[in-house]
This record gives sequence, structure tokens and C-alpha cells, in this order.
Amino acid sequence: MELRRDKIIKIISIAGIAAIVLLPLILSVFLAFKLMDIAKAEGEMSARIEELSEKLEAIEKKGMSEGISVISTDKDTQMASSGGDGENAAVRETASRYDTGGSAEGKKVYITFDDGPSVYTGEILDILKKYNAKATFFVCGTGEESEGLKQYYKRIVDEGHTIGMHSYSHVYSDLYYSAESFEYDLDKIRNLIYNETGVATPFYRFPGGSGNTVSTQDMSVFIPILYAGGIEYYDWNVYPGDASREQHTAEEIVSNTLKGVDKVDTAVIVLHDTGAKKSTVDALPEILEGLRERDCNILPFDEDTPVIHQYELSEDE
Ligand SMILES: [Zn+2]
Repeated sequence: MELRRDKIIKIISIAGIAAIVLLPLILSVFLAFKLMDIAKAEGEMSARIEELSEKLEAIEKKGMSEGISVISTDKDTQMASSGGDGENAAVRETASRYDTGGSAEGKKVYITFDDGPSVYTGEILDILKKYNAKATFFVCGTGEESEGLKQYYKRIVDEGHTIGMHSYSHVYSDLYYSAESFEYDLDKIRNLIYNETGVATPFYRFPGGSGNTVSTQDMSVFIPILYAGGIEYYDWNVYPGDASREQHTAEEIVSNTLKGVDKVDTAVIVLHDTGAKKSTVDALPEILEGLRERDCNILPFDEDTPVIHQYELSEDE
């Protein structure tokens, strides 16, 4: 009886020691397998993330070469991220076309500003913001020489306006000298805008318009250069005359603009953003009021904007 009890105690003790030694061992092996599983899942996940970001990059690159789509994407992200100026992204997103200065059913009106940035760009942007109207700025290289003006390329884009090219130099004799000089200038303005804003803009306005009489070369020399780069050129059908030699008063600019808008189905207005054109700045609030009274739909340039050409390539060019 005594012996049997000893034996039982011995067995229990051995079993106990075995359990104490073996249990952690089994547990460790189990945990090790679990850890391996997690590591494997993590590896798969980061491979998937890498794959997805490569895909996204490819889509972005494709959009950039196609121009238009990336502009709207950029604008959207910039609008969403630049909510620090009091208006948040949600408010901007839900803003209907009516809020951008007109009625969705009204006549489409595109306001464009050539020649900037200038000392008045900030004021023009402030007025547009006040009226919640979006415009299009065909800019030059003027802002690169002056640190004070350089900021405006980005501000134009950040505030939801469209940015387009209007040549780097705007010096007719240099720009229109030859195909090579035109291409050299085009590269400069395109790179400047891209570096300052991240936008590869497909919009171009010839200095003097495509129907200008200042170029010594026929415009058919330059247009294929734009088209080769996926760029379209746009003229206008409402010319209030703010850039004419005789200085117009603000009242004249307002009345010329509104009369011009009344005459066309879709209006593309050309105004000027230069240090010499204070009257344009003074006229802008009344222009916007007048357009609002007419229930116009004020829009920035996009891929749906009608292409107005003063000079058209002929069929065989
Ligand atoms: Zn110009």
C-alpha cells in the first residue's frame, strides 16, 4: 500500500515536472508559428501596397501626358488640402456652379486674364474670391524675375482657377522669330508653370492672339509645335479693349464686356493682368455683378471649353 502510494506520487511528480517543462515549450512553438504567419501577412501586405502605389504612379503619369485629366485631379487635391484659408474642402466640394458666380442653366462665360502675374494679380484674385467666381489666367514668365510675383502661379491654381500659357517672354520679335525660338520659349513657360504649380497645362494663348499681325512667320509654323505637345490654343470672342492703346475707363470696360457677352452664345472674355491696367481691376467687380444679374454661368477653362480660333490651320497643313 505504502509502495503504491510512493509510485503514484512519483508519477504525479514526473507528470508535473514534464508539464512545467513541456507547456512553455509547446506554447513557444505555437507562438513562433503564429509570428511567422503575421510576418508573412505583413510581407504580402507591403508587396500589395507597393504594387498599388506603382499603379497609382502610372495613372498619374498617364494623366500628365494627357494633360487635362491631371489638372482637375491636381486642383481637387490642392483644393482639399488648402483648406487653411477659412473655407474647408467640403464647402468647396458642395459649392454648386451657381455659387461660382452664376446659374448652371445660364449662358456660359469664361473670363480670361492675359499677361500676368503682375502687381494686380493679388487684387484680381481677391475680387474673384469675394464673388466666388473662377477664371483662367494665361500667364507669362514675368513672375520668375520678381520674388514678390512668383507666388501667384501657385495661388491661381490653389484658389481653383485654371492656369494656361501666354509665352514666357511675350516679346513678339523673339517669340515669333522662328519655329526654334517659339519652341524654346514654350519649354520655358511650360517648365516654369509645372515647377511652380505641378500642373502640366494643355491651354495656350498666343500673344496678340492666333490672328495677330505682328508675327513675321505664318502661325501655321507654330501651331503644330503646340499640337505635338498635346496643347490647344484659345482665342476669345469678347474683347473689352482694356489692352488697347487708348486707356479705357473702368466704366467703358464694364459696358464693353457686358455688351460683348450679350452678343454671343458662349462668351470667352479677354482681360489683362498687367501693372499698366488698373482700370481692369476697377472694372472687375461690376463685370461680375453684371454677369450675375444676367444669370451667367461663370466657369474656368476645362476640356469642355469651346475652342475659339482666329487663325485656323487649313486642311492640308
Ligand atoms: Zn498678351
